[in-house]
Amino acid sequence: MRKTIDTLCSKYFAGRGYIDSGDTRAAKYIMRQFIKAGLKPGVKSQYFTQSFQMDVNTFPGKTDVILQSKTSNKTLKPGADFIVAPNSGGGNLLNLKLFYADSIIFSKIINNKKVKFPKGKFALVFESDVLAKFKLKGNLPEELIKGKASAIIEIKSGRLVWSVAHENLKIPYIEVAKNAFDKNAKTFSINIDQKLLEAYETQNIIGKYRSPKNPDSFIVFSAHYDHLGKMGNDAMFPGANDNAGGIAMLLDLARTYTSGKDTPKYSLLFIAFAAEEAGLIGSRYYTEVPVYPLENIKFLINMDLMGNGQDGMMAVNGSVFTKEYEKLVSINKKNNYLKEIKARGKAANSDHYWFTENGVHAFFFYLLGDYPYYHDIYDTAEKPTLKGYNGAFKLIRDFVKAL
Ligand SMILES: [Zn+2]
Repeated sequence: MRKTIDTLCSKYFAGRGYIDSGDTRAAKYIMRQFIKAGLKPGVKSQYFTQSFQMDVNTFPGKTDVILQSKTSNKTLKPGADFIVAPNSGGGNLLNLKLFYADSIIFSKIINNKKVKFPKGKFALVFESDVLAKFKLKGNLPEELIKGKASAIIEIKSGRLVWSVAHENLKIPYIEVAKNAFDKNAKTFSINIDQKLLEAYETQNIIGKYRSPKNPDSFIVFSAHYDHLGKMGNDAMFPGANDNAGGIAMLLDLARTYTSGKDTPKYSLLFIAFAAEEAGLIGSRYYTEVPVYPLENIKFLINMDLMGNGQDGMMAVNGSVFTKEYEKLVSINKKNNYLKEIKARGKAANSDHYWFTENGVHAFFFYLLGDYPYYHDIYDTAEKPTLKGYNGAFKLIRDFVKAL
């Protein structure tokens, strides 16, 4: 499994996003692994891919940010010192004045009251803690641009967490780590290459293993293969735990069944979903255009964040499908696979969600254990401990046998 994680987190796959065809490269790799394992095409007789389109905001080139004080210039490191907000616009702006908005100014801007803005072009600067005090209903920057700022800088006290957006603002918007921000800075320069890719085509990869016993009834295994990709030339988000680990598990499960070690009672579908990080889009698409009728799915097991597990595993929907959850817990107790199996209710936090919403019985499994790297440049191949990986693999295999 480490090999799959290493491969998917390597530079070639560009963080499995929408720059340098990272998503397409990952999709092809997974399809090859499906074929190698002996899975049959899950879509039509000769196809593994289910394509769909979406708009996606990308940063394909420069992401230069320089803070300027009287005495020095500080170049910020992309991914470490700052992230470009997912819905940022692009632009090349030199020596913008920094205009700091505290709570009072912030509230004036939001309430359309008169604010004395600097003359000429400026960047609006505020702390995320200040922002949090105002529970803005609409899009945050839409509110702020009323102030006619040419750029937005949000100072973050917590970790920098990136994501994917489907539209963009007209102006650059960056989030800077508090410890990287120079309070003495008076001006800054920014050069962001940004491109909204319209109707970008990406794809789910679907492989099938037919059971002679119940050929038209399915157990579905799923894991998303996309991650956040690249933010400019220099910052890549490898997504080792999220979700190279889940794909490793998906492939290991496929290999076990096709090797004949375990003859399943039901046919199996293995789905590597695209565009999960973009808002569960690939899995939603599947439920809208299902390849096999959703009512033919006996159970779905979605795997995401499978890289650790020293503290056990969470079963999302465990408190919804209690009979299956009890089965899972008893198998685990008997074999001592994992420290504990926790249960929670339904949650729209991964690809099982739209299936559950459409009446499919499903669990979403994620492994537990302290792991601070989430949607950042540090979730690299060597970081996941993989302590619960084998236990989770065996537990899933035994659970499917018991269904
Ligand atoms: Zn994920």
